[in-house]
Amino acid sequence: MEIKADALVLRTADYGEHDRMVTLLTADRGKIGAAVKGVRKAGAKLRFAAQPFCFAEYVLAERAGRYTVISASLYDGFYSLREDIGALYAASAVCEACDGLMYEGMVDGRLLVEAVGALRAMAAGETARPLVKFLLAALRLAGYPVRAGDCPFCGKPLTGRIAFEFAGGTFCCAGCAGTPASLSTYHTVRSALGLSCDGALCTEDGLRRALRLLRAYYAAKIGGDLSALASFLGLF
Ligand SMILES: [Zn+2]
Repeated sequence: MEIKADALVLRTADYGEHDRMVTLLTADRGKIGAAVKGVRKAGAKLRFAAQPFCFAEYVLAERAGRYTVISASLYDGFYSLREDIGALYAASAVCEACDGLMYEGMVDGRLLVEAVGALRAMAAGETARPLVKFLLAALRLAGYPVRAGDCPFCGKPLTGRIAFEFAGGTFCCAGCAGTPASLSTYHTVRSALGLSCDGALCTEDGLRRALRLLRAYYAAKIGGDLSALASFLGLF
């Protein structure tokens, strides 16, 4: 059986003499593995389709639950991501998070839309802000939204000493629950969620702190470390 699927390459692994496996995030079939045969031969026509970050319409042959790529029409290869190490790590963190969030068989086309949007912004030169936005969206789709409103425990607006409570994924007053967090993290997250925020607190440092918080929250909820995010934070 032949199927068509819009998909993003999350990762690749060489096998055999000339072949490569690609892990695809698709819009309507979740995450699937597919073989690209002969793609490591000189002049292989499908070379572009077996590269990380390739976003294309794939035509796949399915046999007994195994997929082989027959052809692909490129939407975007996001090639400029490879020219900047920060952009490369940020984009890799997007793919790593998708890979971790989408167990085989889980289907949510919105994750593909969010991932492609983030890679597009990163290819255009912005890295930390789209990564914060993407991680918030991806965690929300996985059922772990981050809440950055008033304190859910006492109802007061958050000023002064605040905290983040990992069990509920929510900012709160330092006196109510959680581990200490900064107002710049809170306002950077609010900005990324499209909520009103104090622009003076949405700084580079706020982005760095928000990414550190999201890394810890991802590890707490999904399990596993986002190593590309760790590498990105090492540069940022
Ligand atoms: Zn409170």
